[in-house]
Amino acid sequence: MRETPVLRATLTPSVTYRIALLLTMAVSGGSPRGLLEECHAGQPSQAPQATAKVDLILRGGTLIDGSGQKGRRADVAIKGSRIVALGDLRNTKAKRVIDATGKIVCPGFIDLHSHADRGILSYRDAENYIRQGVTTLVCGNCGSSPTDVAAFFKDLRSEGIGPNLALLVGHGSIRQQVMGRINAPPSPEQLLKMQQLVRQAMKDGASGLSTSLRYGPGSYATTEEIVALAREIKPFGGFYATHMRDEGTRILEAVEESLQIGQQAGIPVHISHHKISSASVFGLTRLTLARIDKARAAGRDVTLDQYPYGAGSGGMDLYVPQWSLSGGMDAFRERLKQPKVRGQIEAGVKDLLLRKIYEAGQRSDNPAHTAAALSRIRVARATHDESLEGKTLTQILRERKQSVTLQKGCDLLIELISKGTGGINHTLEERPGGDVDRVMQHPQTCVASDGSVFQFGTGNPHPRSYGCFTRVLSHYVRQRQLLSLETAIQKMTQLPAKRMGWTDRGHLAVNAIADIVVFDPKTVTDKATFLKPHQYSTGIQDVLVNGRLVLQAGKMTGQRPGQPVAPARD
Ligand SMILES: [Zn+2]
Repeated sequence: MRETPVLRATLTPSVTYRIALLLTMAVSGGSPRGLLEECHAGQPSQAPQATAKVDLILRGGTLIDGSGQKGRRADVAIKGSRIVALGDLRNTKAKRVIDATGKIVCPGFIDLHSHADRGILSYRDAENYIRQGVTTLVCGNCGSSPTDVAAFFKDLRSEGIGPNLALLVGHGSIRQQVMGRINAPPSPEQLLKMQQLVRQAMKDGASGLSTSLRYGPGSYATTEEIVALAREIKPFGGFYATHMRDEGTRILEAVEESLQIGQQAGIPVHISHHKISSASVFGLTRLTLARIDKARAAGRDVTLDQYPYGAGSGGMDLYVPQWSLSGGMDAFRERLKQPKVRGQIEAGVKDLLLRKIYEAGQRSDNPAHTAAALSRIRVARATHDESLEGKTLTQILRERKQSVTLQKGCDLLIELISKGTGGINHTLEERPGGDVDRVMQHPQTCVASDGSVFQFGTGNPHPRSYGCFTRVLSHYVRQRQLLSLETAIQKMTQLPAKRMGWTDRGHLAVNAIADIVVFDPKTVTDKATFLKPHQYSTGIQDVLVNGRLVLQAGKMTGQRPGQPVAPARD
């Protein structure tokens, strides 16, 4: 075996031998996982044998490896699906060379919180994600997922997908399959059936269990029900991801419930899209993050994610009491016809509005406060009347020449929900130093989109589906300098990979899988806005998934090298 002069000159014989062995294995497609990272730590240049041609070299870029360490000048060589060398590779021959001069070369972004399972079979290229640099989507969040994981993975493979995709199994979907959409506890037989479905999903490659306890059918479940199901994922090394039961005035109780579920089931906890959605308690992330820190200090494995925007997104029906939706929309409309029940629904809506859209100190009998409060809710999707899309409740009331009062806002909400109005955007605390900044700066917060894939130009999705990752890089890193570039990239790569238990993705090292992004740190930008969401991000130059180019020089290649990713099980 030939060794390069550089290796001989700088390393001890035994390390030189190990690197040479690994390079041979890597170039020939072997898989000596774990060994190389150790050797790689000293950063000598690691050139493959001069005679072995690699498939691709990314030359001249600044390498940010995902660990949070400072960027450094290094070339990256790829053969097959893996990285085979890093460093000064000017003498290495390659079938193809990409000039990365002036660009950042880093691991592909791992989106821990996607809902793309809903659209990926129709929009397999996931261009909105690829153009943000995302190479792996973790889907099945907020309790909603395909329940037959084996069949879903088979469908993904049949015609291929652009990015990789991992899946959590959703409690809400399992519950709905077994019990329907009803507000009732499961019978012992129903619970057994749900447990069996969760177990099967894990056997078929799911990475964990997700819930949304905020809305039905997940909200109909007790803590005990979730613990009983979460125990099923422990033998598989899965984790529990949760859209918590409350993200507003009762969020501290909801954090406790999440921790309790993790503790009783003996599994890690991941808090999804962490935010404060009630204006009356903006700032409460000081306490939620302190609680998470305390749990971690006690040895608990707790992580979180966030999308980087000053407004959230949800169903308009989040603003009615969830019991009123039991049995579905027809049942809701029937309840509205009964004056006494309608009165109870209205009382519940007003209570939610008071907590969620009025800031501390704002009063519902102050017209200016109410106009500001009702402006926090903006209609995103209204299939029955598209002219409403993009408008706030205040705007709609004014257009109708109605007074802007809490009662009128309540009536309008109920009317819109009963007509089937879908999504809304509601504003969060985005002022500098507010909740969005605070959560982003927490060392355990991953960047994650909470987005999905769509037909380009159709509907009015939250802009995070097009711009989540690029917005962090442009707005929070370049413009506001809230995070260093290295830290931001770590939150998009190594940190989510750790949560998933992946050792060969989320960092750039020899023998890691070649999921890689090349982007221009000076120009990378999110373009999508709340009013014009269907705009691709710019500044991402090249994206490799499993060693193959999906985006090349800013153009989609049409390749679909993405794979379903099941947890590694030893
Ligand atoms: Zn959610």
